[in-house]
Amino acid sequence: MKVKIKLCILGHLPHLAEILKIEKWNSSIFEITGVNNLNFAGCSDGPNWEFLDNNIEKELPPNTDADILIVVTNVPLQDDYFVRRFSDNRICITYSGMSDILIFNDIPLKNLLLRLLYSATLVYKSQGNRIPLLSEIKFTHDDPRGCIFDMNGADKKDIVYSTNKPEICNSCVDSLINNHVTNNSVDEALIIETQKELKRINKGLYFKITDRIKKHPIITIVISSVVALSIDLISHFIYEYIK
Ligand SMILES: [Zn+2]
Repeated sequence: MKVKIKLCILGHLPHLAEILKIEKWNSSIFEITGVNNLNFAGCSDGPNWEFLDNNIEKELPPNTDADILIVVTNVPLQDDYFVRRFSDNRICITYSGMSDILIFNDIPLKNLLLRLLYSATLVYKSQGNRIPLLSEIKFTHDDPRGCIFDMNGADKKDIVYSTNKPEICNSCVDSLINNHVTNNSVDEALIIETQKELKRINKGLYFKITDRIKKHPIITIVISSVVALSIDLISHFIYEYIK
């Protein structure tokens, strides 16, 4: 059965239409059951204008009808994290400090949220259908591996490695399948299916082509010149033939 995930947009979110393209995402392991919008009731309380956990939790709506509630916002969160976990299977993700990195690297903004949807679904399954609090257990690793469980704590720019064709690294696969803490292991077939779906999280055709051009500029110029010359020659022959 698919995990039901509800989204809630908290406050003003730049590039909202781009991010909400996620609603069309087709997955066999989770489904997005709805998107709500909510305004902030209060202000930040951290020394650097961030929302500390107790404060942002007051802004989160209750999770009444979904397996997981993901609240998407654009304000800085506690300890400069981009994801924080709360009670009742609620998670808050912020695009603050992340949007610029993704846009600069031509990565669709929805990819960041997709990464969370997949990691949250696997955590939910591995923990006996619940999302533990941040203080209970850590699921991420500090070194970036292009894995959906990368921490990206030391350098947020490393997010680019896990938002373009991300994967679940071997060590995380092992932790999910052989969960010695709760004995609620994730089915291997679910991991295989997830790995397959993660490959679809990429830059999109346009930016894949521009990336290729940036990587091989000389070959691109040669191919373009040959194609242009060929078109010129073919049109010349056609003209000579029909005149
Ligand atoms: Zn990993």
